Amino acid sequence: MMEYYKTCAYPKPQTRKKKKKQNGYKDKASRFCAYCGKPYAERHEVFGGSNRQISIDLGFQVDVCHEHHEELHMNCSKWAQEENIKLRRFYQKKYEEEKIDEGMTPEQARNDWMILIGRNYL
Ligand SMILES: [Zn+2]
Ligand SMILES: [Zn+2]
Repeated sequence: MMEYYKTCAYPKPQTRKKKKKQNGYKDKASRFCAYCGKPYAERHEVFGGSNRQISIDLGFQVDVCHEHHEELHMNCSKWAQEENIKLRRFYQKKYEEEKIDEGMTPEQARNDWMILIGRNYL
């Protein structure tokens, strides 16, 4: 547990630029946290960094309350680390299964995923 605090002692500073990016981020009473059910949830992109836009375009997203959202981004707690992996696996599997349904072989679907995201989570 102590290592998490060592590696995650400084949360990333929020820049103005980052906040302006469009991700359909609008607090809505009808949007609930996937984990605790709180309303006015925020939308979190499962694949961040350079894959953030892809996450938005393809709907690799999850609605979470502000607290759970911060925890996922900090990626320090055991829950957050496990959940980040779980979400990425879930969306990779879903993506590949859809491609297979469309007629790709599993190998082609995996290859397609690697071109898209650049990393295998399965
Ligand atoms: Zn997020
Ligand atoms: Zn929550």
